[in-house]
Amino acid sequence: MAHVMNTYARLPVAFERGEGAWLWDASGKRYLDAMAGVAVCGLGHSHPKYVAALREQVGKLVHTSNLYEITLQEKLADRLAAISGMENVFFCNSGCEANEAAIKLARMYGHKKNIEAPAIVVMDKAFHGRTIATLSATGSRKVQAGFEPLLAGFVRVPFDDLDAVKRVAESNRSVVAVLVELLQGEGGVNVCHEGYLRGLREICDAHDWLLMLDEVQSGMGRTGKWFAFQHSGVKPDVMPLAKGLGNGVPIGACLADGAAAHLFKPGNHGSTFGGNPLASAAALATLDIIEEERLMENAVRIGDFIRAELVRKLGERKGVKEIRGKGLMIGIELEHACGELVQQALDRGCLINVTVDNVIRLLPPLIFKREEAEHLLAVLVPLVTEFLGRQGTPQAAAQAA
Ligand code: PLP
Repeated sequence: MAHVMNTYARLPVAFERGEGAWLWDASGKRYLDAMAGVAVCGLGHSHPKYVAALREQVGKLVHTSNLYEITLQEKLADRLAAISGMENVFFCNSGCEANEAAIKLARMYGHKKNIEAPAIVVMDKAFHGRTIATLSATGSRKVQAGFEPLLAGFVRVPFDDLDAVKRVAESNRSVVAVLVELLQGEGGVNVCHEGYLRGLREICDAHDWLLMLDEVQSGMGRTGKWFAFQHSGVKPDVMPLAKGLGNGVPIGACLADGAAAHLFKPGNHGSTFGGNPLASAAALATLDIIEEERLMENAVRIGDFIRAELVRKLGERKGVKEIRGKGLMIGIELEHACGELVQQALDRGCLINVTVDNVIRLLPPLIFKREEAEHLLAVLVPLVTEFLGRQGTPQAAAQAA
């Protein structure tokens, strides 16, 4: 590690191979993967059909650049348009780049309306990435600290608060768009109320703003629909995607609809790798497999089971604030900082995550089976119970000090 830049607090384990929801380290120890590479590997690891599609494409053509037509990219854009109902797609390589494209679209939209300094409404606790523009849009001081001056042009409001957005609409004539995650992932698996999206759509329509939904984490079947917005029947104008789109081969996409779909002209935006033949083949295979194996239905079935069991076994326990989420995006909020649980779960052969210090986050692959969910619960429930039992004890006080 001496020559890898020190940007991650990594866990002391390296995996050599994976199959389905399981990973193996060099010593042969097996781990149940309830993180899926942070909501990336929806098909799990080494899915045979996905592996075959990648092998075939690598043998044919990996990259040509966007100087030329790319048939597989066009095919992928058609598929994404068909499943989202949106008009067209810009391809890139990651979630932050997909959000960069959205921010550029919003600014261009504003300039077309002669707004000199277009502003975008963003949310507390949001996470949109770590480039300068996307960390400026992100609602976490931890992510921003040290990188000032932040980019101007963002107006922050509390998440899930329509009145706050209305107040901005009344006072700020420079706003051109709202950028929001319907289910905040990094911010603590925060779920919005039923009418939130519809309310945002109404405000955007009334003021001629773009509604931009960051579905980088919540998209690609994770909540039980292709995209989280589809639970409500309200369509966005712009939708950044990444993570689960290529099942691990890096690919991002910014989908656009209506006025937003025709803003960029040649020269306005671009990417060397974006939507290259390999990445496009990976995404097409991912879409096929999610559909063929009815993985969205599975996400709902297994997600509901895990959440119901967590509520049954932990819901009434002192120290558990809330169990929430949708599909296979699950959060358990505790009253205490609980980062230590990640290593403890790893020791017991399970990969989990803790975000915003006190929310246990589970993002299992969409292929997760009932037995695997039971295995995860059999590890996690005692772990959380023991952890809560230690709170308030001299041992916990010493650890916290
Ligand atoms: N947007 C959301 C909602 C995310 O969860 C993430 C990453 O966690 C990003 C954007 C940034 O994606 P990337 O790390 O691929 O740049």
